Amino acid sequence: MKALVIEGPYQAVVKEVPYPKPAAGELTIKVERAGICGTDVHIFKGEFMSSFPIIPGHEFSGVVHEIGENVEGWQVGDRVAVEPTQTCGKCRYCKTQRANQCTNWRAIGVNRNGAMAEFVSVPAQLALKMPDSMDFETGAFVEPMACVVHALNRLQAKAGDRILLFGAGAMGQQLIQSLVKVGASELVVVDISQEKLDMALKYGATKAIESKHLMEEIGPEVRPEGFDIVIDATGILSIIEQAFTFMGPTAKYLQFGVTAQNESIRLDPFELYNKDWTVMGSMAINYSFIPAFEWLKENRVNVKPLLSKVINLDEAVDFFTQPRDAALMKVQIKP
Ligand SMILES: [Zn+2]
Ligand SMILES: [Zn+2]
Repeated sequence: MKALVIEGPYQAVVKEVPYPKPAAGELTIKVERAGICGTDVHIFKGEFMSSFPIIPGHEFSGVVHEIGENVEGWQVGDRVAVEPTQTCGKCRYCKTQRANQCTNWRAIGVNRNGAMAEFVSVPAQLALKMPDSMDFETGAFVEPMACVVHALNRLQAKAGDRILLFGAGAMGQQLIQSLVKVGASELVVVDISQEKLDMALKYGATKAIESKHLMEEIGPEVRPEGFDIVIDATGILSIIEQAFTFMGPTAKYLQFGVTAQNESIRLDPFELYNKDWTVMGSMAINYSFIPAFEWLKENRVNVKPLLSKVINLDEAVDFFTQPRDAALMKVQIKP
């Protein structure tokens, strides 16, 4: 079969690889859609916890193609969305509702071959049957949406919270639509792309600011009270460091965007103490795949406008290796 293989940092190729037969307890899925995520770009650059060679692709939907031994309840042709993370169920984190911190954490497309290929084998218990009303495009959004749901569970935003969000890409947009539903009052969004800001306003942001006007619009001189919640969905170090400037008393900060590993920022510990700040992260999915699936099934979040384009595997190599248009949101691969 054909697959996109990252053979080492900055080395992506499309080539023939063996078809992944399902092992006992597994299904082999014919991939219909695989979303490209910022994490895949980090894997491509050798900045994330993958070993090489690896077929990336952890946001995907498809059709059951072959059923391994000891698997019940599935039929060839079933349409599925697949949770990518595999946790052990035995460690102290798995046993205390923190499975995203499992000491044996693995993920399809990170450290086991993923869905940027014609076929992918997956543990059967990670597959979720899609209703006929859910299309494959939406099915491949369940995983990113599950990251958003985990972030919401971490944040515990209160009705009326004033929220500032950096980054209006596909993940930022899913956060915007979700934060409206969990009760944000003000929802100020910052990005470099006017098109992304326009979409943010359309789906519930109360104010959209181009990055270069940030200080004059909401800097401490014009808005000394700051915000109750500040979220980074860019993963860009200079933005993260600056984000703390906008934190009001008792504010919560959420690191949602993924940076390269082993980077650092400066943070004023006096302010952290003096203003009662809470600083938190949100790593991948944590018992949030089914809630995200339910949310998309009921169209609570509209992911359709976030899909910028659908490309094939060969075009995906260019996507990794060439400069990208800043206005692009989600790009999906149809192998
Ligand atoms: Zn992702
Ligand atoms: Zn575990």
